[in-house]
Amino acid sequence: MEEEQPDLPCRINAEFRIGREQVKLQVAFQSHSQKASTIVPLLQTLTDKIVAAAVCELEAGGARISCGKGCSACCSQLVPVAEPEARYLLQLFETFSEERRARISRRYADIRSRLNDSKLLEKITDLATGADREARRRVGIDYFELGLPCPFLEEGCCSIHQHRPLSCREFLVVSPPEHCARNDPENVATVSLPRRASVVLYWFGDGRGEASARVVPLSLLFDWAAQHEAEEEPEFPVGDYCENFLRELTRPA
Ligand code: SF4
Ligand code: SF4
Repeated sequence: MEEEQPDLPCRINAEFRIGREQVKLQVAFQSHSQKASTIVPLLQTLTDKIVAAAVCELEAGGARISCGKGCSACCSQLVPVAEPEARYLLQLFETFSEERRARISRRYADIRSRLNDSKLLEKITDLATGADREARRRVGIDYFELGLPCPFLEEGCCSIHQHRPLSCREFLVVSPPEHCARNDPENVATVSLPRRASVVLYWFGDGRGEASARVVPLSLLFDWAAQHEAEEEPEFPVGDYCENFLRELTRPA
């Protein structure tokens, strides 16, 4: 990876292989030092390229992606985001009109109250600080049972489609859409990706991928914001951050 420095802007050019696909990325930053939330759009582009490559390969083999506009049962799942994405979404939220923020906040409050009533709130909060795979699976199933659409879902469509989390970008299925609406994960065939950028990002609180995994449930985004409002988001040398991230992402599983 090349990084022009110390002159501004800082340009990142990367070319690497994921699975059978060669991926190229070019991006410019205003300065060498960046908060991880400002790197999120680059990771969105990267994720889109990885997903597109996987879909291309699947379709070449005759499979078809079932996902389409207005199909949204998957938006009632418990969606995990990494902390840089949480900050990115909160910054995005601040750019919305007062009316739009009020709509999202009302939906959010409703979800939170239903989670509280069902006693799931505490279990979901615990997931953020580490839980085993089976505990995560059980909470995910219980959450889906409640039928709580994401606060960003409006009239059956993602209202932040261009900015949606990495895990939403990565979740595509080849099984019939009606299976997604049932609480029946065994019969939902997801598109398999060599590595998931959404998951790699959980470990990048230190910019090197060596920190403990930190996950924010999207449906508790504003609770997380209230708990962390006093924290300053750290900055990282952007070239090192991207290089570390790509090394981890392309590492054989
Ligand atoms: S994952 Fe399932 S519910 Fe979501 S868009 Fe795809 S087919 Fe529709
Ligand atoms: S962010 Fe968008 S795509 Fe993701 S769960 Fe919410 S509404 Fe669905």
